[in-house]
Amino acid sequence: MSIAGQFECDVAIVGASISGCAAAALFARRGLRVVLIEQRRDSAAYKRMCTHYILPCARPTLQRLGLDARIEHKGGVRNSLAIWTRWGLIPAVDVAKKNFGYNVRRVTLDPLLRSLATETPGVEYWPGFARRDFAGGRGAWLVWKQRPLKASGVWFPRG
Ligand SMILES: Cc1cc2nc3c(=O)[nH]c(=O)nc-3n(C[C@H](O)[C@H](O)[C@H](O)COP(=O)(O)OP(=O)(O)OC[C@H]3O[C@@H](n4cnc5c(N)ncnc54)[C@H](O)[C@@H]3O)c2cc1C
Repeated sequence: MSIAGQFECDVAIVGASISGCAAAALFARRGLRVVLIEQRRDSAAYKRMCTHYILPCARPTLQRLGLDARIEHKGGVRNSLAIWTRWGLIPAVDVAKKNFGYNVRRVTLDPLLRSLATETPGVEYWPGFARRDFAGGRGAWLVWKQRPLKASGVWFPRG
């Protein structure tokens, strides 16, 4: 089926927060055409029910995205992790050994990551659309309200 003015993409991602924005940027860098859909219109919107701790194990992904430098520029603090277990203490890693994550609030992180994603060539950002605006089609998902969209795949990150 072809509709006049229909926008076509390889993947539509519903939810422009941590996982949706990271995936959008990474997909687009690999050459996919991405539509990133977010129900909130405010590009500075952020998740309220969350704290600030990014685990050290997430750092390779932050580096891959180029987000680590942006976090540091915005005042994100390098952190570490020590864990008490029934077998004893797993000591904190040495920040100097570059095995660290970041403490950064979502009010800072979410807009930072959203702008990184939406600035990536190949990402088309559609704020103000919600999942309920979709009507499913055979082999495609279509937004009927304002803009018809045909996507080969649709991904709903689960927050
Ligand atoms: C109290 C609390 C503290 C936490 N602390 C930490 C922490 O310190 N460190 C840590 O790593 N994790 C923490 N987490 C977990 C962290 O918040 C989540 O893992 C993370 O936010 C998931 O990201 P996400 O992008 O999948 O979803 P979310 O950040 O939840 O984003 C979902 C996005 O989808 C959009 N959306 C939702 N429904 C629709 C729809 N129907 N149509 C269009 N858009 C839609 C939303 O507006 C939002 O932008 C905490 C969680 C809670 C509850």
